[in-house]
Amino acid sequence: MIPGSFDYVTATSLPEAVTLLEQYGDDAKILAGGHSLIPLLRFRLASPSILIDINRITELEYIQETDGVLHIGALTREAELDSSTLIRNRYPILLDTSTGIADPTVRNWATVGGNLAHGDPANDHPATMLALGASVVAVGPDGQRVIPVEEFFTDATFETTLHSNEILTEIRVPAPTEHSGGAYVKLERKVGDYAIAGVAVYITLDDGGLVATAGIGLTNVGPYPIKARPAEQFLLGKPLDDAAIHQAADLAAAASQPTSDIRGPAEYKRAMVRTLCVRTLRKALTRIH
Ligand SMILES: Cc1cc2nc3c(=O)[nH]c(=O)nc-3n(C[C@H](O)[C@H](O)[C@H](O)COP(=O)(O)OP(=O)(O)OC[C@H]3O[C@@H](n4cnc5c(N)ncnc54)[C@H](O)[C@@H]3O)c2cc1C
Repeated sequence: MIPGSFDYVTATSLPEAVTLLEQYGDDAKILAGGHSLIPLLRFRLASPSILIDINRITELEYIQETDGVLHIGALTREAELDSSTLIRNRYPILLDTSTGIADPTVRNWATVGGNLAHGDPANDHPATMLALGASVVAVGPDGQRVIPVEEFFTDATFETTLHSNEILTEIRVPAPTEHSGGAYVKLERKVGDYAIAGVAVYITLDDGGLVATAGIGLTNVGPYPIKARPAEQFLLGKPLDDAAIHQAADLAAAASQPTSDIRGPAEYKRAMVRTLCVRTLRKALTRIH
């Protein structure tokens, strides 16, 4: 389908983008990689009167680790995560996530910031960022806010706590500590598809080998990205043995809220959350040194 008509401006700096957002208000939409927004326009599920293109704000494209935090600029493309040595060596859970998104053509454009700002429960980064305990940085006319990802998604589909006059500028992920590891496993109908279900896990063990922190996020099994809190709570203080892994997977499945659709019946998806959670916890365990 052909989108409705809209105006188009490019911003070359963050202050300019914020000013443009202020000027056009709720009628404006930020354009990043465009791989979620353009389909929405074409199906006329969104009809902004103006697009503010931020692709020339190159200062928003970076991946760097400083002071125990990984900083990912919002305009960083998935392909840059795929090819980053830092990500490959230190954040394999992020590599699991980016390489499972769509196909290389999409990943050359799609941005990490756009993946989160879109608020789509089918997108893969939300679950991973929930598991990692990440935060996002939002910049608006009143300055900067740091929002924990668990407070970023609301219980409405495609809704976040980002204000309409704010731009998501950065994602912050705590750097790995000793005895920590994570993984993301996604089940898809065919390569390049959105998940039937996906599970992200990030675990830290204490010196005695018991679970000190646990993060578990679920993809595409509810109206919003789900943080499986009962499963996380259950694991605390336990050894990550088979019994604990299966019990946590049952709790994660119980926390999912799938509906039946072209990707399968709800019961099948819930069963897949259970299976994927077992696999993901085992994979995370192999990455803990
Ligand atoms: C064929 C295909 C397959 C796909 N498969 C997957 C998949 O398997 N898994 C997956 O996770 N994703 C998938 N995607 C989605 C893709 O990853 C999207 O590109 C991504 O979700 C959105 O990023 P974007 O940069 O394209 O954002 P855009 O489409 O440009 O924007 C999306 C939304 O976020 C807003 N936005 C973007 N950036 C910012 C910002 N910095 N600040 C504030 N608001 C912002 C926009 O205004 C818009 O509302 C697929 C897309 C396609 C076309």
